Parts: sequence; C-alpha cells; structure tokens
Amino acid sequence: MRSELRRLCRPSLWTRIYDSDSFAAASRHGFERGPAFIFCEATVCGPVDMELSSPNVFNPHCRSCPRLANFLDEVRCHHPDYYCAPVPAFGDPAARLLIVGLAPGMHGANRTGRPFTGDHAGILLYQTLYKFGFASTAKSRSVDDGLALTGCRITNAVKCLPPGNKPVADEIAKCNSYLRYELSSLSKHSVVLALGGIAHRAVVRALAARQVDFAFAHAAVHELEGLRLLDSYHCSRYNTNTGRLTTSMFEAVFAMARELLNDPIDQ
Ligand code: SF4
Repeated sequence: MRSELRRLCRPSLWTRIYDSDSFAAASRHGFERGPAFIFCEATVCGPVDMELSSPNVFNPHCRSCPRLANFLDEVRCHHPDYYCAPVPAFGDPAARLLIVGLAPGMHGANRTGRPFTGDHAGILLYQTLYKFGFASTAKSRSVDDGLALTGCRITNAVKCLPPGNKPVADEIAKCNSYLRYELSSLSKHSVVLALGGIAHRAVVRALAARQVDFAFAHAAVHELEGLRLLDSYHCSRYNTNTGRLTTSMFEAVFAMARELLNDPIDQ
C-alpha cells in the first residue's frame, strides 16, 4: 500500500497530514489502513510529520462546533449511508484557483463527501469548471467517479452541514482556521473565488483584512495579501432558479478568473 501511495502522490504534495483517526475517513475514499501513512483530503497522503500538531490543519473528525456535530449525529441516524462528517476540500493540491462555497448541502456534499456534489448547487459549478478547462468532466457524481480538477480546488467556509444551510457566526469563526490554512498554501497571486457573501467574508477574515475595506459584490475583484479575491453570487438552486445568477453571469466570472490567472502584469 505504501508503495502504491508513493506512486500516486508526488513528494511535493506530502504535506497535509492528519491524525491516525483519519484512517476511518481514508477508508471511505478507498484507501486502506497502512502503518506509515495517514489520510489527507482524499487525494494527498504522506509520512507523519510535525503538522500533526497544527491546529489549523483540517481534521476530518473535528467536533469543535457542538451544534453542528450533534446535528450530524442526528442526520446520520436518519441517513446511515450519508457521509455526515466535515467535508474535506477537493481538487488539485497545487491549484492557483481556490473556490470557496458556504457549507455542505444536506443531500449534496453531506451525502457524498465531496463539495458541491450530489445536489443542484454543483450542476452549474462543474459544468462551468469543465467549460473553462478546470474539470475533466462536466458532472460530479461521487467521490469515486474519476472526476479530476486541474489547477482548481474547491472548499467550503464551513466544513460541516449546518441546519437550514445557516451556520452561526461562532461556527464560521471556528472553521475559519481551516480556511486560513488552505489560503496560506496558495502561491502568490492565486485567485480565490468566493461564492456568496458569507464565503467572501470568511476569506477576508481568514486573511486578517478589514471587512469594511472589501465589500462583497458580484464580479468584484479585490487584491489582498498577495491574492486576488473574486466574488460571485452563490450557484444555489434559489439563485439560479430566480435568475439572480444566470449561466452567462457565472461564465463571465470564470472568464475573469482565467484572465486573472493568466495576467502577466501581476505575476
Ligand atoms: S464546522 Fe468546522 S470547526 Fe465546526 S465542527 Fe465542523 S469542521 Fe470543526
């Protein structure tokens, strides 16, 4: 198993290491337990190192938010086949485009274990990612469907399913350390695409910037801490059904993201 993981993972990616409890999560993604390796966000794995002690490294068994942890316990009773745990980021570990959503949806990421997968919110997102060359296919069905992202990674501001899709301020604040870690792993001049105001403010908070200086607006670009923060309305069922966010509007945002990533002036 170890040699197989070494074959799958470039040495440069052996960075984000979780505690040994994460083997349970690893098994959900098809990795077997092995003596020297532990799970890392479904795609990256490596030998144990000092990052184990970092409070900012995503813990797939985190229960820091009692309301959300208890809610997941309840949902697990009703849906024992659902993922029902903090949902890890998905995509290219070397991405220069990080997409930040709000939180897992009940029957989407909370069911499948992959952000924006299994419900309406992911339909337009993955279609657009495919159209702009970030995804290998236009549909994301499950963690084992073979879909790969190139140059792009997707995460959520809050990793656990919140009741009514509404995390409270304290939960957004607690989960912000994980987002901060994810942002810190981006190279300079990467692009962060925030889907909705809550994701936008979570990114601003994680970068220790003042909210008043960086107001959310659809298609706005903000420069902060060496990153470009690009805003879009969230691709939720409500927003797409009401026309608040159309396909052409969303594609225009991705065209901006591509342009920013290719912008030689800011490199
Ligand atoms: S929302 Fe984030 S901080 Fe809260 S329990 Fe889930 S993973 Fe932990």
